[in-house]
Amino acid sequence: LFNRRRPLPRGAVLTVAGSDSGGGAGIQADIKTITLLGSYAASVLTALTAQNTRGVSSIHGLPPSFVMDQLDSVLADIPIDVIKTGMLHTPAIVSALAERLGERTTLLPLVIDPVMIAKGGAALMEREAAQTFLEQLMPLAYLLTPNIPETERLLGRTIQNEAETEQAARDLHALGAANVLIKGGHMGGRLSTDILFDGRECHHFSVERVFTSNTHGTGCTYASAIAAFLAQGEPLRTAVERAKQFITAAIQLARPLGRGHSPVNHFA
Ligand code: PLP
Repeated sequence: LFNRRRPLPRGAVLTVAGSDSGGGAGIQADIKTITLLGSYAASVLTALTAQNTRGVSSIHGLPPSFVMDQLDSVLADIPIDVIKTGMLHTPAIVSALAERLGERTTLLPLVIDPVMIAKGGAALMEREAAQTFLEQLMPLAYLLTPNIPETERLLGRTIQNEAETEQAARDLHALGAANVLIKGGHMGGRLSTDILFDGRECHHFSVERVFTSNTHGTGCTYASAIAAFLAQGEPLRTAVERAKQFITAAIQLARPLGRGHSPVNHFA
């Protein structure tokens, strides 16, 4: 029935994110990715979305105190190596999380995917949460993984090319994130290039662009893959490189599902 010789999970990732009832993005994408890549996944839910491949039809946010109850419960008992955050939804949740994580004497590596707006246009982070996010949570980030629209929103300016992307990564680092990976998927061109600024220099990760609309859950899956490789002890650049290979294969191997944007293939 199952392979008894399969190795035990290596490393544990806690994902703090929202649920996607359609199963392609959010906490479902995170748990699938982390599990598939061989780490243990624990999860703290921030909000529930009623969602399918065609979009988000409603959102039910959870009370910040209950989000914290979940976090406290997991961290009090389960040895977590990396925390990954996705949809945080409200300023109250962002602030409560920043306060709780800031209180810890040993800061776990925190991978922050600054989820803001779904591809279909639904606001996954309330407008006012962006400021709280910048001021309180970003300084705790080991790695921030914005796409181009999220970078533009965080910095309040547009980005047109790679030189401007590099500058944006430096600016987000100056705002407190130890490392910044800006994903170039929204930029035009033959290649899809992500730029990592590690506080010293920029590193480029390029693959041939895959032309498809089957990209639901890309951001969640990529950030979770990086978190899993970090939890397994990979250095940051190797973790990003391997996660980029994984997300590229997951996009290439996506299969039509539903009538909207199909999710990436988590079995890649
Ligand atoms: N729904 C939830 C709960 C998410 O966390 C995310 C992640 O970014 C999305 C939807 C976005 O999905 P999409 O890749 O379609 O923008």
